[in-house]
Amino acid sequence: MNRAFQACITATCIIFSVNAAAFNPYPGNDNPNTDDDVPGDPPITSPGTQWDDVPPDMVNSIELTWKEMTGGFEGKTGARPRNGSISGFYNTILDQVMQNNGKLNYCVRYESDVPVSPDLRDDIEAALRRNVNAWFSKLAGYNHFPHQHIDVNVVGWAVRNRSTLQWNDDPVPVYVGDYYENAPQCAQVCGRFFHQEAGYSYPQCPGGKANHYDQSLWLTEGMNGGAGGDWGQRVGRSYFTGQVKSENLHIFLHEMGHGFGFPDYYNWRTWTQSTPEPYSVMVAGSAFEVTDWDRWMLRYTWDRLKPRWD
Ligand SMILES: [Zn+2]
Repeated sequence: MNRAFQACITATCIIFSVNAAAFNPYPGNDNPNTDDDVPGDPPITSPGTQWDDVPPDMVNSIELTWKEMTGGFEGKTGARPRNGSISGFYNTILDQVMQNNGKLNYCVRYESDVPVSPDLRDDIEAALRRNVNAWFSKLAGYNHFPHQHIDVNVVGWAVRNRSTLQWNDDPVPVYVGDYYENAPQCAQVCGRFFHQEAGYSYPQCPGGKANHYDQSLWLTEGMNGGAGGDWGQRVGRSYFTGQVKSENLHIFLHEMGHGFGFPDYYNWRTWTQSTPEPYSVMVAGSAFEVTDWDRWMLRYTWDRLKPRWD
């Protein structure tokens, strides 16, 4: 079964798909009878051992965000339904990292004809390592999260034309002419998105499980903004390669946040009137790095999902 969720940074184009059949579960209408966050809702108490350190002014927005992530705002504009709750979804980036013992493998879907030098290839992998760990460093040492550092590797490139890649030694497989959603992809027999069965060993993937990919970095020529989900991150090719050496690729960081299940905040005011939106990389145009609020939101999410791996 293929399940995916994604959300875009530029518009309200949030898409869930089940069995690759895209549909939009968001009715787009406010339901005034849906319960709100006004006094009366029971407080959520985190089981996290270090949660007591959370800055008090962050608690409300964190709990409201979790409420959205678990379908508690079903029916409100831009909010996921209860059957899209993160509590019943087992392909978040946390699931992927935990099942891989701290590794995260990438396919680069290169939807462009602008040549890629070996140096740029290496810079892209380094940028993935740096930015993935910009998130995961916030969990290091927190409530038994077992990884100090995530081992991020590019295990494949997908292109339209082999000649776009200016190397010949093929340190990792190059996939040419394999298309999905009209863009180059690495072989589906190697992709976690296409094989979410527990314990799947990728028997048809060249190199087997060690060479499977969890995420795709999808670089699209001429794209503004981005999209993200459990399958990976899609951003503009020139955005990513043009800033490949900068410390924080904030659109990438935002799209990766959707991989944890975090929402957009375009419709925050229809979810709550009383709590200001957080200072977060998930709030488009607000923060340009993983913030202290994001750190606590991720920690809260870890606390909540941790029983999966106990
Ligand atoms: Zn977004």
